Amino acid sequence: MQNYFVFDLNKCVGCEACVVACTLENGLQDPTPWRNIHTYNEAHLPGLPLFHFSLACNHCEQAPCMQNCPANAFSRDAASGAVIHHPEKCIGCKYCTWACPFDAPKYNSISGVVEKCTFCTHRVQENQKPSCAQLCPTGALDFSFADLTLDESEASSPVKVKVGSRIHTLALRNTKGPEQDLDLFLPHSLNKPNKKHFRKIKALHEWPLIVFTLLVTALVSIKTSFIQLPDAGNYYLFGFLLFAALMSTLHLGKKQRAWRALLNVKSSWLSREIAILAMFGLLMLIQLFVTTVPYWLFAFVGLLLLFSIDRLYDLATWQWPIKFHSAQTLWIGLSAIAMLNAWIYLFGLVALFRFILGFWHNYKLPENKNLFLFIGRLMLLTTVVGMFLRLPFFVLLIVFLAGEIMQRIGFYQALQVASPQNDLKIKGIHN
Ligand code: SF4
Ligand code: SF4
Ligand code: SF4
Repeated sequence: MQNYFVFDLNKCVGCEACVVACTLENGLQDPTPWRNIHTYNEAHLPGLPLFHFSLACNHCEQAPCMQNCPANAFSRDAASGAVIHHPEKCIGCKYCTWACPFDAPKYNSISGVVEKCTFCTHRVQENQKPSCAQLCPTGALDFSFADLTLDESEASSPVKVKVGSRIHTLALRNTKGPEQDLDLFLPHSLNKPNKKHFRKIKALHEWPLIVFTLLVTALVSIKTSFIQLPDAGNYYLFGFLLFAALMSTLHLGKKQRAWRALLNVKSSWLSREIAILAMFGLLMLIQLFVTTVPYWLFAFVGLLLLFSIDRLYDLATWQWPIKFHSAQTLWIGLSAIAMLNAWIYLFGLVALFRFILGFWHNYKLPENKNLFLFIGRLMLLTTVVGMFLRLPFFVLLIVFLAGEIMQRIGFYQALQVASPQNDLKIKGIHN
């Protein structure tokens, strides 16, 4: 038997007593509460239910936050089953906020680390309910024991992900109102819930990551091409790698703990990416100061590095039809390697593959169409045509680089990860 939150959508009145109870119980100072109330049909449209959902951490069986955290900052409390976050181990990378489908970890910009609900383990150990459930005046939020399978847990979860979330939701009773033409109520219409997505990840906030991924892709492309570098070239490239590594730490809340990003190679792609980057740097050092490193070894580790960067964004596949995207670093890197080696046909083939991926995404997810991606693809097409027409290399290189920067910005702008603000839609919950 496991501890569970039980939430009855029919009883919640959105009074926020549970939010206040949580804030007082845990002595929260930051203005961001650990528990949130999501309200639907705020416009009070007639014929549609108005309901509220109180959500915090659901202490998932297969907790994506714990699996993806590179710093091993989460653990499970054996007695209560709670997923506990350890702020003293957190580096403030915010990757868990992307990974959590319930938006439970909250980044505290003052302390530079995330925080989240503890299941009130101190109360549960004394056979008391968590404070939020204890103080809910309507009985909408409660705490109980259950033994649900992963499938049962997914079926009763407010967000449709199979992570064994410990919340059992009692759905709204089905009440039918008169037929409505909901378009009359635009812009508040709820009949097209997926048209406008809430985006947790914003390209503007993630600019250090955009710069980092592009710099690393450029570095790998140069090191795995057959171009002749001047003697000092490898020293400059090593400086380039250090600069890229520095960029990757800029978005951390606790930069002095950046080394902890290596601690979860077992299950976090973020840790794996940093480990492979370190391996690539080591190869460069060996080449600089010890002996020649074979080309194939640079190519293997370099492409593995790009692959690992792309896997970080697999989190988004909950909502994407396929795991490939035309602006992933592996495809950008292959395009760049083909260009630097003047392998025109390979360049054309990779570009064709990327165009097909682009069309596929636009067809499957039209709401993800993006101007930056469109302009970037247009510039890639220009580069392909220019290469076949044998236009000057440097002109083509500038067009190509500008296009890839555009595509990478568009990639982050179109990136979606699960969030109750998108998934807790009226159609998904109303039975
Ligand atoms: S205290 Fe209860 S009724 Fe009030 S918002 Fe929270 S869950 Fe809903
Ligand atoms: S709800 Fe989010 S923060 Fe809580 S255990 Fe699940 S994934 Fe982690
Ligand atoms: S280190 Fe990153 S992923 Fe881990 S808890 Fe802190 S912010 Fe979240």
